[in-house]
Amino acid sequence: MHVHNIDDICPLCGREKENVEHLFLHCFVVHRIWFAMDATVLASVRIRFISCILWNIWTLRCSIIFDNMQFRHVEFIHCVNCFISNIERNIGHVQAPSVSSLSNPKWKAPSQDAVKINFDVSFVSKDLPIGMGLIARNSSGEFLGTKGTTDITVYEEQGEATAAVEAIKWAAGRNIYVLHLEGDNKNVVDAIDGRTGGIKWTINNVILECLNLLSAFNNWKCSHVKREANSIDDDIAKYMQESTQTLNGMFVLQILS
Ligand SMILES: [Zn+2]
Repeated sequence: MHVHNIDDICPLCGREKENVEHLFLHCFVVHRIWFAMDATVLASVRIRFISCILWNIWTLRCSIIFDNMQFRHVEFIHCVNCFISNIERNIGHVQAPSVSSLSNPKWKAPSQDAVKINFDVSFVSKDLPIGMGLIARNSSGEFLGTKGTTDITVYEEQGEATAAVEAIKWAAGRNIYVLHLEGDNKNVVDAIDGRTGGIKWTINNVILECLNLLSAFNNWKCSHVKREANSIDDDIAKYMQESTQTLNGMFVLQILS
């Protein structure tokens, strides 16, 4: 896709310069979309749908630019809500969005005062950039923020270790002092936790960077979680990978704060 002939004004608001952060986060039209979403979508258990909303905003933007589509706010929100309920139906085993489902047995909230950041990567091959997904939640399981980013990596484990570095840097920049890192790659988690036997020696410097950054925290821990419990991050990571290919560039996206 060539973007040089596209007006760089945001197609949604028609007011400001379009960049990824503006489009997904700061645009007042997008604000209205976020706030109009069914509140349960933003509940902890359904964070996976954030990537659906982002995806819908992206396709909306493309339809306006390439197909001269007229944007109708109410219609769009209705469509996104339908899109999400469709996915839910197809998933089959939908949990009711009750408070009890927030304490999904697979994902455990961190201890008091700690912020848990789950990290994950979506890796296809060494020729494509990886997508990294981070998600931060507090001890009540409350959603604090999510971040997607991309990087070039040679193999998956290296990508996982790089995602851990990103997670730590993100936490440090947000004044988090007690950090609980969680990932689904056992070798990387073990290495950060001091058991270095499982990883390739080439990742050692990334692990050392993690430990160096972690030394600035008052307290930290790193734990392993099964892939299914990390799947929310997996969704963000995959979304980032797809979007990066669409956008043909590297970017960082941060939703909420
Ligand atoms: Zn805008």
